[in-house]
Amino acid sequence: MSDWSDELKRVVLPAVKRSATIRELIIERGALKRAGEVARHHFDGDCIVIFADEAGFAAAGKQAVQSFEAAGFPVSCHVIAARPLPKASVDLAETFWPFLEASGIIPVALGSGVINDLVKYAVYRENCPYFSIATAASMDGYASAGAPLAKDGFKITIPTRAPRVILADLDIIAAAPRTMTSWGYGDLAGKVPAGGDWILADALGVEPIDDVAWPLVQNNLAGWLANPGALADGDFAAVARLFSGLSVVGLAMEFHGSSRPASGADHQIAHLWEMAGLEHDGQMVSHGAGVAVGCMTSLAMFDWLIEQDLSKLDPEKIARNAPDLAAKHVQIEAAFSEPKIIARAKIETGAKHLSRQALCARLELLRTKWPELSSRLRTHMMRSGQMAKLLRAAGAPVNAADIGVGPEHLRQTYLASRFIRTRYTLPDLLEETGLLTQAVDAVISRPENAAK
Ligand SMILES: [Zn+2]
Repeated sequence: MSDWSDELKRVVLPAVKRSATIRELIIERGALKRAGEVARHHFDGDCIVIFADEAGFAAAGKQAVQSFEAAGFPVSCHVIAARPLPKASVDLAETFWPFLEASGIIPVALGSGVINDLVKYAVYRENCPYFSIATAASMDGYASAGAPLAKDGFKITIPTRAPRVILADLDIIAAAPRTMTSWGYGDLAGKVPAGGDWILADALGVEPIDDVAWPLVQNNLAGWLANPGALADGDFAAVARLFSGLSVVGLAMEFHGSSRPASGADHQIAHLWEMAGLEHDGQMVSHGAGVAVGCMTSLAMFDWLIEQDLSKLDPEKIARNAPDLAAKHVQIEAAFSEPKIIARAKIETGAKHLSRQALCARLELLRTKWPELSSRLRTHMMRSGQMAKLLRAAGAPVNAADIGVGPEHLRQTYLASRFIRTRYTLPDLLEETGLLTQAVDAVISRPENAAK
């Protein structure tokens, strides 16, 4: 565990220290025994309310209750069904409100992605700090201030607050189902193409790279992703590093003030599937599994992009033929059926739509910067083939077919992904250069993406 403890001191703890919300992040074996004492130290309340689903409660509930009771807290538990998997929605989160009304409550989110997001949202209205007890290294949302929840069928990241304390008992996390750990790995892997998206936005003056969140994530990412085989074996150090990576990403979002350091087109693809309630083998496809495939799709698109010579673009000609906003509205209406999603997508798309003149100027900038930008991308980006090996070793999905998505579905998802967020990502660049269809034709119809 030595390399891991060193990294904890060097990277993780200084980041926690910088956080305005998170006072302590505990990642160690047997940590759950200390939950009661930690609650006494960091919270003012005098009774514990644990929110969990049945699976999370089975993994850590009994030990948590014992630890809180040993520290003198009365404990009540609100446990929701684990089957079917609870959906991260505002409606479900609001059912938690009645349990938060008494005074002196310390809310505890005991579980992984969905439970955390639900509690994070529910306690925010009450302005109440909460305690997160993680049961799996399955996503990057433990330390993040935003709660990605479905509202009116649209997945949005609602600004809330990160927990005051995060406790990850490695004995629990390493014993979580391997597939859950692979989802966390997939979620973290998405930061590679998300970094590429940010490089594009930076180079084109859309959204500059910062000097805090960027190095925190991107300079450590290769190390966090380096040993997927050990993760699949439940190795404590590997699981600890994955959990710390996922937590640091959450902190990077706090420092940057948005999810830009953690989320690009890879996440937009996954969010579309989450919004549609995509199922595979009778189960809802998890966030991390969707991001793993979103990551592979995005990286394959970057592989294609860096082989192009954009210094030969003809900005005026492209801008002349570019779709206007009305044409994009027609595309949005064809891509989605739900009126509320269509309305939202029009707002997000309108916010990044450029006049012909502004588009021409951006393309001119892209044309002149291409030699430098393409070499920056070549250096930064992992190739999709390399990522496929890592994801496979972690037990995560690689091809769209692994989550039941056929090539046409993937193609439609990729094309629609740019509509759901104002954030500038690779599909925006491809559309603005008039290369989107060509790129999608070249990348997505490849046989390895075909449904098996
Ligand atoms: Zn994520």
